[in-house]
Amino acid sequence: MDTTVKILAAAIYNGRVNHAYIISGAAKSGKTELAKSFARAILCRNQNQNKSNNYSLQYCGSCAACISFEGGNNPDVVYVVPAKTAIGVDDIRQQVNSGISVMPYGKHRIYIIEAADHMTHSAQNALLKTLEEGNTFGIFILTATNPEKFLPTILSRCIICKLKSPDIKTTIPYTETEKQNEIINFIDRIFRDCSIAEIFEFARHMEQKENKENINQIFDIFALCFRDLIILKQTAEPTRIIQKDMINRFADLIPCLDTSRILNCIEALEKARWRLFQNANFLLTVEVMLLEFCGK
Ligand SMILES: [Zn+2]
Repeated sequence: MDTTVKILAAAIYNGRVNHAYIISGAAKSGKTELAKSFARAILCRNQNQNKSNNYSLQYCGSCAACISFEGGNNPDVVYVVPAKTAIGVDDIRQQVNSGISVMPYGKHRIYIIEAADHMTHSAQNALLKTLEEGNTFGIFILTATNPEKFLPTILSRCIICKLKSPDIKTTIPYTETEKQNEIINFIDRIFRDCSIAEIFEFARHMEQKENKENINQIFDIFALCFRDLIILKQTAEPTRIIQKDMINRFADLIPCLDTSRILNCIEALEKARWRLFQNANFLLTVEVMLLEFCGK
């Protein structure tokens, strides 16, 4: 597993989370996903249960913090958004400094500042003031493409996590094994015999906020599954597949599949990705894609 994830997980489960992190990396290297997974794992109330799990960023999915996080309304998460193009001093004052001393609901309040390298110098100085005050429950997670734009005083107070350039593995959302399982279950259904009602139900499920916002990552998981299925079908060599933990699921499916069917799925997936990029109707696009997956 990625060392960055291990380091972050170790910090949580050893009770040594720092007050500020910078997650840096190229576009699409998974910065936002990692920031969110880290925040969710910090806030989950069942950390003792999560701890046993091999230093990945775990969350239980059922405690109040997890449920509200999934719903996008966990009161202990503050997404700092710029009023204009860059994050200015007023954004930091209004969204961070003014509420920093209010007690959180859980143990921590997490401030996620995306594209934080776009903070003006005065914004960085305002943030620095808060970091220097050493508030015990505030945790800052900053994402950045160009960390050299931060003031040295900011850099010296943050733990810097560098992500590798995107490749097929790192673009999958971290800790999204749940999502992966859900998608593989669905693929399993479509390649056996899936009713129209099930297809529409899955499309509506995809339309829910959390899925809709992460649709590109979900498409990436679908693409990866199709890729692994083709490789397994063609080579019968499990070592060549990427999602090795899913080998048994894939092996079960292989007898029901022919390669052209999987290729059609990949084509339908890419068509849907392109349509959504062009702002086509979300539900309709996903429904058509799923129907094409089923060969209907
Ligand atoms: Zn939880």
